[in-house]
Amino acid sequence: MRNKVLRQLQRAISKTKEGSRKRRKLLAKKYRFLNWIERRIEHILHAISANAVRWCLGRSVKTAYTGNPEGVRERDCGRKHNQRMGQWAFGKLRDLLAYKLKRHGIELIPVDERGTSGTCPVCGEYTRQTGRVYRCGNASCGFTGIHRDVLGASGILDKALHGSFTRGRRLPGKVEYLRPQVLAPKRAA
Ligand SMILES: [Zn+2]
Repeated sequence: MRNKVLRQLQRAISKTKEGSRKRRKLLAKKYRFLNWIERRIEHILHAISANAVRWCLGRSVKTAYTGNPEGVRERDCGRKHNQRMGQWAFGKLRDLLAYKLKRHGIELIPVDERGTSGTCPVCGEYTRQTGRVYRCGNASCGFTGIHRDVLGASGILDKALHGSFTRGRRLPGKVEYLRPQVLAPKRAA
């Protein structure tokens, strides 16, 4: 949404004359929008990290692991702009989470994400994934039925605890979503 609105505003600005009233108005609108959306992103990141900390505290977690997407993200994302934004937001979320967890004595350890969402938890073979639901490409295995992000998270934990992927990995039986409570958005302009 941020990039889409920015593109629209930028296009409108480029059609106006330099120093014109119209351009001044549009520029003001652009900066108002940027200010507003950045505050909203900040708010959401705080809500997400607070949820995660609460979850950890409720389960007496001492160490948490997070995927480190450096080097992974570049290939998967298309537009440079979106990619930079995504990386910025992810880095910010990780820093916030690390900071908040540390206040409760919980350590957050980054784990190289490579292979985590493509490695089969049953046979250990890697298959490049295209859909949301994981599908093992090994004909003699064919494991499927778990969301690839959930599988990715279990792969991160597996890698962190065992140094590499193990076969016959234990998967979470129940998946809980920690959706942040987000206040109703106020219009920017
Ligand atoms: Zn398999």
